[in-house]
Amino acid sequence: MRNKINIAIDGPAGAGKSTIAKAIARELGIAYLDTGAMYRACGLKALNLGIDCFDAEQITQMIQDTSIDITYEGGVQKVWLDGTDVTSLIRTQEVSKAASDIGTNANVRKKLVHLQQTIAADKSVVMDGRDIAMYVLPNADFKFYVTASVEERAKRRYKDLYESNTLNGRSMDDLIVEIAARDYVDMNREAAPLRPADDAEIVDTSCLTADEAVEYILTKIMDKEEG
Ligand code: C5P
Repeated sequence: MRNKINIAIDGPAGAGKSTIAKAIARELGIAYLDTGAMYRACGLKALNLGIDCFDAEQITQMIQDTSIDITYEGGVQKVWLDGTDVTSLIRTQEVSKAASDIGTNANVRKKLVHLQQTIAADKSVVMDGRDIAMYVLPNADFKFYVTASVEERAKRRYKDLYESNTLNGRSMDDLIVEIAARDYVDMNREAAPLRPADDAEIVDTSCLTADEAVEYILTKIMDKEEG
């Protein structure tokens, strides 16, 4: 394998990107960057300050005054917002929505994309997000767009929430509506809408386990690197 390799993994919410990206990074012994955590940290700040994520003026002002840092502890990514570790605070439904909403702001995207490019500049990385192949790492060595049907993604989300006792009364239908709504915002925003890059390989995981998806992608990478 070459000295420095950048792998972009994009796709909609709940398609299994982060599980797959983490496993690939582990197998290849390179860094993993979950870019969604950065949007989540910004969304959390807006929620804490009571700022409407669609208020372009206030969000633009807020973001100028915001520091986001990423560190790793035992291989696990931590995200810091203005010097405070917010890793355990950004996985709520409220923050998911705020992240998606604040991601429509072009100034937020500009700042986070720059940070992501800086992180990838001097090391090998598997980066997962929505706009990695198209905007963050357009010259990535490998680009994959991991997706699955809305129903399958809702089913997986239901299982995760059920097992962590955090369903909070939501039904499968509620989750289908939530996921479809997040897809809509992500795919229809003006700034960097979610869509597969022309040169990305689409991996539909609707009928694949996470292990099968990881094996498929790793084989693609190793075939090209060794061939
Ligand atoms: O990946 P995750 O679900 O944690 O991302 C939360 C939200 O952040 C997404 O719904 C998306 O709107 C936004 N996001 C983005 N660009 C990225 C990563 C995440 O717009 N690269």
